[in-house]
Amino acid sequence: MTTFLTADQSVLNGYRPYHGTMLINGEFRDSVGGKRIDRIGPAHGIIAGTYADGSAEDALLAISAARRAFDEGTWTAFTAKERAELLLKIADGIAQRSEEMAIIECLETGKPLAQARGEVSGCVDLWRYAASLARTLHGESYNTLGDQMLGLVLRQPVGVVSMITPWNFPIWILSQKLPFALAAGCTVVIKPSEFTSGTTLMLGEILTDAGVPAGVVNIVTGLGTNVGSPLVDHDDVDMVSFTGSTRVGRHIAAEAGRKLKKVSLELGGKNPQIIFPDCDFDAAVDAVVFGVYFNAGECCNSGSRVLVHQDIAEKFTRAVVEKARRVKVGDPLHPEVRVGSIINDNQMAVIEDAIRSAREDGAEILLGGERVTGGQGLFMAPTVVGGVKAEMQIAQEEVFGPVLAILTFADYQEAINIANNTLYGLSAAVWSKDIDICLEAARKINAGTVWVNTFLDGTPELPFGGFKQSGLGRELGKSAVEDYTEQKTVQLHIGARTNWWINNAS
Ligand code: NAD
Repeated sequence: MTTFLTADQSVLNGYRPYHGTMLINGEFRDSVGGKRIDRIGPAHGIIAGTYADGSAEDALLAISAARRAFDEGTWTAFTAKERAELLLKIADGIAQRSEEMAIIECLETGKPLAQARGEVSGCVDLWRYAASLARTLHGESYNTLGDQMLGLVLRQPVGVVSMITPWNFPIWILSQKLPFALAAGCTVVIKPSEFTSGTTLMLGEILTDAGVPAGVVNIVTGLGTNVGSPLVDHDDVDMVSFTGSTRVGRHIAAEAGRKLKKVSLELGGKNPQIIFPDCDFDAAVDAVVFGVYFNAGECCNSGSRVLVHQDIAEKFTRAVVEKARRVKVGDPLHPEVRVGSIINDNQMAVIEDAIRSAREDGAEILLGGERVTGGQGLFMAPTVVGGVKAEMQIAQEEVFGPVLAILTFADYQEAINIANNTLYGLSAAVWSKDIDICLEAARKINAGTVWVNTFLDGTPELPFGGFKQSGLGRELGKSAVEDYTEQKTVQLHIGARTNWWINNAS
């Protein structure tokens, strides 16, 4: 039985729920209907924040503010230097309010406070990276098209972008999108998850304090079906950038497709770590445990499948179970806790269903498989499932919880086949001292990121996104700003033009 680590909760003494208001056309305001959503923190049972429960009417106001700000050229008139300076100021603003943001992130998601602090400081770096790209965004010129032709390729902002984000890394995921769209000159309407709207609304305050003009960034809160839908299908929206489940992503792609809008999708994953017998054993065990229990497994990049070579499978599985047993679960305010609360009852039910189906399919629960008693009851024990076959649901479907499925393979080709045998293709890892095996596997695995002898490392310089049903498009990397632009070709004729039909001389 996993024990629950309790924490000193004095940081919550006198805690006043964050009162968030929407940001529309530069004004902080409640929803037209006046309704509100109370977010009760899943780990502590207190009201973490209270938010406007918006409707389609609020979304339309936000879209029209963003449209006006774009069409009137408020933001595109800023030079690259001015935009970059503003992005750097916003980065400083996030740094200044980082503790406040980390606490709300911890309370709303149930993730460890120490981890939330790391995420917020990582966001500061994303904004700074975007500022650096803002100053280098440029088009192309072709001076090779003959004496009479000069070709220019201009980069123009795509226009109004809707950003719809999930609950697992609220401010981080928004920071993978917003500063890059702003660097490109777009205007934006954001809809955060109804479970974790706090830090997005705090960011609205930071943007306003930094001097982002009215209407350039608008934030609406509420349910996906109410405020989210207009952000996808309204004609005044030029692009939709969505991060969330594959189920909702498919729906959004279909809706955006009807209007032929540009769309970028960051969706789910069923990410394999492939363990070869010659790996650095201890490092691989540690990365497997970290990879699946980080953020309680509520992570698109979660290493939820381990494919281990049959020669070391028994020893490796035993070592993983032993390490997983020592992972600290409990109050996310405790500095040693690594697995906090699950986000809500629905997600807990998804996780319990996945464990039930694994049992029914004949897999064996080697560790965990049940809730940990404590807090508000939404804590799941680090779980290891052995004897998993590639076709089982536990090997195919995203769980989004602290549940590891262990599969075995006999040779390299079988490992690659199993790795590629799901609908997803977000990320993967290969563990071996043989560089040839690592490079070959990195080429053959159908995933947007392949880590070699490491897991979950990330840096803004490297693109992130999925193959297959894990998504469409890439975030980050040097083209992160270009993704929010359209290309425009300008052809300039030099000198007299030859007439098409009748030569003037004849
Ligand atoms: P979700 O798809 O349920 O919700 C995501 C967002 O979409 C929320 O803001 C929600 O309100 C909104 N939404 C829901 N229905 C909508 C609709 N009909 N129209 C418009 N908006 C709508 O996802 P979630 O439960 O918040 O997050 C978990 C999922 O996100 C997991 O599947 C995970 O893999 C995925 N995820 C992917 C990445 C990635 O980068 N690939 C990162 C984080 C999370």
